[in-house]
Amino acid sequence: MKHIGRTKIVQILTLTDFGIEVNVKGWVRTKRGNKQVLFIALNDGSCIHNLQIVVEPDKFDEHLLKRITTGASVSFNGTLNKSNGSGQAVEILASEIEILGDCDVDKYPLQPKRHSLEFLREIAHLRYRTNTFGAIARIRHAMVFAVHQFFTQKGFVNIHTPIITSSDCEGAGEMFHVTTLDFNNLPLTEDGTINYNEDFFGKQTNLTVSGQLEGELAAMAMGDIYTFGPTFRAENSNTSRHLAEFWMIEPEMAFADLNDNMDLAEEFLKFLIKQALIGCEDDLLFLSNRLKEEEKDKKEEERSMELIEKLKFVHSNDFVRLTYTEAIAILKDSKYNKNGKFKYNITGFGNDLQSEHERFLVEKHFKKPVILTDYPKGIKSFYMKLNDDNETVRAMDVLFPQIGEIIGGSQREENYDKLVARMNEMGIPSHDMQWYLDTRRFGTAIHSGFGLGFERLMLFITGMSNIRDVIPFPRTPKNAAF
Ligand code: ATP
Ligand code: MN
Repeated sequence: MKHIGRTKIVQILTLTDFGIEVNVKGWVRTKRGNKQVLFIALNDGSCIHNLQIVVEPDKFDEHLLKRITTGASVSFNGTLNKSNGSGQAVEILASEIEILGDCDVDKYPLQPKRHSLEFLREIAHLRYRTNTFGAIARIRHAMVFAVHQFFTQKGFVNIHTPIITSSDCEGAGEMFHVTTLDFNNLPLTEDGTINYNEDFFGKQTNLTVSGQLEGELAAMAMGDIYTFGPTFRAENSNTSRHLAEFWMIEPEMAFADLNDNMDLAEEFLKFLIKQALIGCEDDLLFLSNRLKEEEKDKKEEERSMELIEKLKFVHSNDFVRLTYTEAIAILKDSKYNKNGKFKYNITGFGNDLQSEHERFLVEKHFKKPVILTDYPKGIKSFYMKLNDDNETVRAMDVLFPQIGEIIGGSQREENYDKLVARMNEMGIPSHDMQWYLDTRRFGTAIHSGFGLGFERLMLFITGMSNIRDVIPFPRTPKNAAF
């Protein structure tokens, strides 16, 4: 085969210098045709579109042509032609064909037809080869890039926080232990408990549930920082919005209060949505049609807003900001609550909001994203700044349609005495946390930050309904395949 440099399909589709010779490599999606002419749809992952390859069978060996099957990896040399067929502007007339990898097509699980998302989860190692998962992978990349772009433009410094930690302050019972101890021969102390002095780190360690505490340390020197790393939670909640391993973005700003924090969160989410609209048009269009198809049997009022329209809507509207106490009043007085339509009835101040309540506020009541602030201290973490009422803390949750909570954050308690008092009240051992408390002793300053769950963002942007479908290899209870 004559050597010509490979061109990606996304580029080929924009070319207009017909007659030039190109090389293209990819995986066959479909092959159709007859004795006179074959049409091959080739995809190389560079975009949602396939490239049409035209093959005149009499120019090639019959056995070679038989090996061009769905799933096979093939290299084509050929001439770029204007396409007469509908659906594409250009096509390649093949002059040389090389089979790079045959596909055992009888055993290949991806047939050229629609497969259910449940089935595709079972073959997650191959699902990238579908239009849906190719589109999601490209959008995921665009969003990663946009996250770094946003913070870089604003002068935030990216900080890598540890994945293995020894602090167990946030999610007691929700952490995965990290150990090299031999479970069949555990070293014990005199009172019969496990002797972690013998463990790798000389103490009990876990996978991190958040990079925030270390992020705060950095913000107290660098000013504005953000982390973007994997996060692990052993919560046994088998929902469509929870993973055991997910990615989180956590900015932290010195000299910023809760209002600054809300402003940043809203600007950040809108930036990400805008970048998706600008950079991922074809993939979003595909996912929009996918969603319409999925919901075509639903009643009109149960269908979601068209995907691109929804993104534009959220991008161009101010988020509603109100306090938890105001939200409780709305929920308590709602027909939904009075008619017992919530699984968890709202009785008053102190109730933890479930995702059904969050979605009611966003989808039914305000019909816009909502930022709730000033939650009761009893349902929030120890590090959140206590308000003067001594009852509520300067917390904020950003609530999105279809998702519920997409961001959780707060202004942090910067006062040493108040922070230690809260830790004692909540039974958090402050002697292990001296490193964290030091920032409050050595030049403390008001500061604020939040965490955006990257896969929750991806759910919103792609319109997918299960979080297992927006991360390549999901980790959920009883599932760590691939
Ligand atoms: P939720 O109430 O929805 O379980 P949370 O209050 O435990 O979330 P935070 O500790 O505030 O969550 O974490 C910050 C963000 O991380 C959340 O707003 C959400 O976007 C995301 N997040 C939290 N838990 C998970 C999870 N198990 N899987 C995926 N994303 C998550
Ligand atoms: Mn939260």
